[in-house]
Amino acid sequence: MPKKAKPPETLWQTAADEALRWRRGADLSALDEAATPGWAGKRRDGEQLLAARGAELAELQERLFAHGRTGGDRSVLLVLQGLDTAGKGGIVRHVVGMVDPQGVMYRGFGVPTREEQEHGYLWRIRNALPRPGYLGVFDRSHHEQVLVVRVDRLEPVKTWRKHYRELNEFEAEVAASGTLIVKVALFVSPGEQKKRLAERLDRPDKHWKFNPSDIDVRGKLPQYLAAYQELLDRTSTPVAPWYAVPADRKWYARLAVTELLTGALRSLDLGWPPADFDIVAEKARLAAS
Ligand code: ATP
Repeated sequence: MPKKAKPPETLWQTAADEALRWRRGADLSALDEAATPGWAGKRRDGEQLLAARGAELAELQERLFAHGRTGGDRSVLLVLQGLDTAGKGGIVRHVVGMVDPQGVMYRGFGVPTREEQEHGYLWRIRNALPRPGYLGVFDRSHHEQVLVVRVDRLEPVKTWRKHYRELNEFEAEVAASGTLIVKVALFVSPGEQKKRLAERLDRPDKHWKFNPSDIDVRGKLPQYLAAYQELLDRTSTPVAPWYAVPADRKWYARLAVTELLTGALRSLDLGWPPADFDIVAEKARLAAS
């Protein structure tokens, strides 16, 4: 008799939450960007599960949206960090893209505009926080204040060092207001990054994504490694944990983030809001109409 195929979710030998959650003091330089922590399957199994999880993710997000529409105060914030080519855009397209866009508040954070510079660095972040019922997505975030700002020396050390505490206090406040925070840092290896940048140079349909400064970043990888190590160690908190996701295999990173997001939404344990009208009476009215 042929062996029955395993349902793909059993190929998570360790749950993504457990396998990827950052543990303070772990050595980031030892992270294997091509690994698939927790997942025992192949690419094809991963893609199959991703498609199946899409339906669940979409339903959970709809429940969240319904909850917000009926007076609930919960929301979810997915924070995406990673160097260029780490695949943040792919996560937005392929993971967040599986849910109803009406319920998503997406925001990308680039170099602060002149108006943004007139305020504290958290001003533009606060303005973009998801309203109740929404899935917020930050493509880069307030954490740049201890990443690019540190590496490019945009502020004196004394100033950016204070940000770790501020970031934690800010996130504690956001969490207390009902927002479940999931922070994902995507890590691509220097070799894979080079390949992806070369592709951007080779393909006319990718030229628009290329920015000459992306090559300068490659000369600063050790500084970024140190900045990420400290970021993860100092801003992983119980209410706003970091997940370190190896991203050389795009299918794995997308599956892993889907898993983390699905788990987060599931943990909210939201049912469908009960009807606030008399169902029988409304059915009778409809029949008579
Ligand atoms: P990405 O690089 O994320 O794919 P992109 O190349 O299209 O996006 P933008 O999104 O416009 O560029 O901007 C990203 C750039 O903005 C990054 O180089 C990032 O370091 C920079 N940036 C983000 N936040 C800050 C900040 N607080 N201060 C300075 N620079 C920042």
